[in-house]
Amino acid sequence: MGRVAKYSLLRYIRQNKTANKAILPYSVAPYEDESLYSYIIRVALAFGISPGSFVHSYLPEIGYNIGEIDFDVSIDENQIKALSSKFRTDFKTLYKTSLRSFSGILFEKPNVKTTMPFIDALREVNTIFTGFGYKVCPLCIKESLNNSERKAIIKSLYLKKFWRISFYLICPEHQLLLIDRCPECGASINFHKGYLQETFGACYRCGLFYTDFPQISCKPYPEILKTFQTLYGVLRQGNGVLSYLNGGRPVKAVVYFGLLRNFVRVAQRLLRIHKDYLIKCLKTEDILEIAQKYCDELGVKKELKSSVFKNKKRFEYLPVEEKLIILKICYNIFENFKKFVKTYKKELRLTREVLFKHWSGQVNFLLDLHGRL
Ligand SMILES: [Zn+2]
Ligand SMILES: [Zn+2]
Repeated sequence: MGRVAKYSLLRYIRQNKTANKAILPYSVAPYEDESLYSYIIRVALAFGISPGSFVHSYLPEIGYNIGEIDFDVSIDENQIKALSSKFRTDFKTLYKTSLRSFSGILFEKPNVKTTMPFIDALREVNTIFTGFGYKVCPLCIKESLNNSERKAIIKSLYLKKFWRISFYLICPEHQLLLIDRCPECGASINFHKGYLQETFGACYRCGLFYTDFPQISCKPYPEILKTFQTLYGVLRQGNGVLSYLNGGRPVKAVVYFGLLRNFVRVAQRLLRIHKDYLIKCLKTEDILEIAQKYCDELGVKKELKSSVFKNKKRFEYLPVEEKLIILKICYNIFENFKKFVKTYKKELRLTREVLFKHWSGQVNFLLDLHGRL
């Protein structure tokens, strides 16, 4: 690869004396919906360098190497500022790639020390992600490869920041389920660990390209699609409507998602106690069907129902098939909350404690809501 030598970034940095201050010779623009993690990897590849060496030698201000920490969540504004001048990318554009940009929508402020609500956990172990923190849509990836950076030495796809969101399970453009692990070997998505080939974007363990990941369509399930479209709408608009809140007028997204996250916890608990009963009374068999299809396509052999019923892990740590079931059940409760409580208050023992236990936001208003039911 002769071009590597010509554009060698490491040589360029040496010429510019200090790595800390060197500005990239040309800018690689982030995509509008790209995640910061993906963007940093693409920049490294554009200059023919492995993501690990790039972050280690060129971005010491981050303080960690790629794979050691969740860049998307942990990056602070000063670091974004430093990166934006090095990358010749303006601050706002770069800020938008970080999950910090969901402040005031999914959560108030990012906090590195805890699992962020509705941000899937990467579970970093020795620079490898072992969780289900990243998901991909095989068709979006195909499209992104066709539009990859022309000047780049190594062509690469890109990952969307929305793919980190725990309830973002279906691609709105292609109506496909997002894939959270390799169907061949079961490895988590570790974009930074791929092989340096002509193009980048394959399973780090077995080399299967993300573009060859299974395409599982949700088109036969319009009801399920509608649920997801509603949630994505709230994410986009920054507010959402629930008939029983604020007199049917929109509420802020952060309140909407805060309440939704609370009901995820409630749904997980109720599923553990009441099992099949809940699935039957909420008529959620369709979601079981699609979750089973997901397992089959990914070669996952497990008794889906019993793994969901036993589940004690936080939602952000679960694989797609389990999140699908829990989210659908939770959404039924969330949307028809008043009716649900009225019908099942006694039978399911829906006390204030059960319904609103850990939810710190606007407790009075919730207690009010419960009182009026
Ligand atoms: Zn897609
Ligand atoms: Zn694999």
